[in-house]
Amino acid sequence: MAETLNPRAGIGMTSARTRGRMIERLREQGIKDEMVLAAMGSVPRHLYVDQALESRAYEDTALPIGFGQTISNPYIVARMAELARHGENGHGHELGRVLEIGLGCGYQAAVLGKLAREVVSMERIAALVGKTRVRLRELRVNNVKPKHGDGMTGARDFAPFDAIVIAAAFAEVPHVLLEQLADGGRLVMPLGNATQTLCVMERQGESFTERMLEGVKFVPLLPGVA
Ligand code: SAH
Repeated sequence: MAETLNPRAGIGMTSARTRGRMIERLREQGIKDEMVLAAMGSVPRHLYVDQALESRAYEDTALPIGFGQTISNPYIVARMAELARHGENGHGHELGRVLEIGLGCGYQAAVLGKLAREVVSMERIAALVGKTRVRLRELRVNNVKPKHGDGMTGARDFAPFDAIVIAAAFAEVPHVLLEQLADGGRLVMPLGNATQTLCVMERQGESFTERMLEGVKFVPLLPGVA
């Protein structure tokens, strides 16, 4: 019903079906966590990109979101959420508080918001925070808190986090972020510069296990704010 009130409802009506096809593709690509698939099925990805790109929103591709940044392809958003939830076996853990670094257009934060009690999402580009904050309010995504700042230092005031998801690549794991993980929590990030690998760090007490997974391609994590 809400979608029919939306001026962009025309595409909204067909997008439920298109989203269904995206979910089937994610299953074929190996996403197993049903909660992640349900979250991906319920967030209207086309409303997070500029209207000119709406028709391409459900393709398995990264899309420009302005300011030289990109929204990740659906597979990598689902994959990172699955890893954050320990959900590779088909069902994962519910998440309390999650830190995302790299809010961008807010799509990944909204997906994580379906899987967590609260998502704090940091973004270094002020104009992007402003635009995305308005969008999240309009779409009534109430448990995502956009914050303007350099995510490399994390968000100590909100720590500890059950999961930290970094949506931009960096050559090493930022150590301050590991300190902000809850016991049993996981940090998921693309590690590297030109060649990047998806990395998962899991905290057990004061020790950490590291897993290096598949190759990925992200925009770089940059220091400071803009
Ligand atoms: N999750 C986003 C993807 C955005 S791309 C989405 O769904 O749209 C990565 C984002 O990380 C960019 O918006 C970029 O500005 C931001 N970023 C890069 N370095 C950062 C830093 N140090 N702190 C916070 N955000 C950063």
